[in-house]
Amino acid sequence: MKQLQLFAPRDLRLVEAECPAPAKGEALVRIESCGICTLEQRLFSGAMKIYYPIVPGHEAAGVVEEVGAGSITALKPGDTVSLDLVYRCGECYWCRNGQSNHCANRFAKGIRPLGGFSQHIMVGTRQCFQLLAGIPTREACFAEPLACCIHSLRKASLKIGEDLLVVGAGPMGLLHALAGRKMGARVFVADPLQERRLLAERLGADFTLDPAIPLKEQLMAPTGGRGVDVAVVTAPVSEVLREAAMAVRKGGRVTAYSAYSDTFDLPVDANYLHRSEVSVFGVEGRTERDFQVAVKLISTRQVDISPLISAEFRLEEFDQAMEMAGRPDQIRVLFDLKES
Ligand SMILES: [Zn+2]
Ligand SMILES: [Zn+2]
Repeated sequence: MKQLQLFAPRDLRLVEAECPAPAKGEALVRIESCGICTLEQRLFSGAMKIYYPIVPGHEAAGVVEEVGAGSITALKPGDTVSLDLVYRCGECYWCRNGQSNHCANRFAKGIRPLGGFSQHIMVGTRQCFQLLAGIPTREACFAEPLACCIHSLRKASLKIGEDLLVVGAGPMGLLHALAGRKMGARVFVADPLQERRLLAERLGADFTLDPAIPLKEQLMAPTGGRGVDVAVVTAPVSEVLREAAMAVRKGGRVTAYSAYSDTFDLPVDANYLHRSEVSVFGVEGRTERDFQVAVKLISTRQVDISPLISAEFRLEEFDQAMEMAGRPDQIRVLFDLKES
């Protein structure tokens, strides 16, 4: 089978690897689609290192080819599945506390995380989330990022009828907008790029904002002078978090969703937090529960994923794919492994 292995920053190679056989509790999955997320771009640039060589890719979906003999699972060959490619041990404090996104053993020695840039992958059966037959894997591979957004909005306790501001209309911002609409919120999306604002509108955002004008100013009239209930910041730009914190109502909630490339002090006046009762908090990853909800939304076609797909490449075209994935005029670039 063909796979992409990263040997060092910017040294990605197409390699012929042996296809493993599944043991009890494992499944062999033929991957059909895998997204190129920020994590892969950071691995590729060297901004992030796990180990070398590594097969990147954590937004993958495919078809079960074989299930290990003696496995206790409903999975069978031919099932379409989204893959949760982050290892969770199930035994540490965090896993047992319902916070497997913080599993202490996610990157323990011997764990081989990611692996989606490969024609086949061996995973634990519990890492496979089944979709209804006929759901395209190019949409199913969005279960992972959608699950992160569901996790984020749950943490912000978003409720039906509330106003949600999403700052940044990249893939994560747009998925927050989709999930927010589904949760019953009125959704405002802010992004400096007009094409992204138009896409947000096409996906169902109620209002779009150009952050050239202070967000608070623009949000006062439509929210009765109070500000939005929840703001999610998906753009790793300093000052934006501060702007978002000022744009929520008294008692509002602000989520720092984005990862920041450097340490970044919270630029918010503590007295303002004290008086306004605004909460600012971080979110990271997702749990199995979030993943299951994301899979259900995609599997039952309750969210329209396809407008988020900017381009699809074969594994052989990895140079072009990685270059394109980093461009701000792209939303999500995928590998189409059926064609590789
Ligand atoms: Zn991702
Ligand atoms: Zn754990």
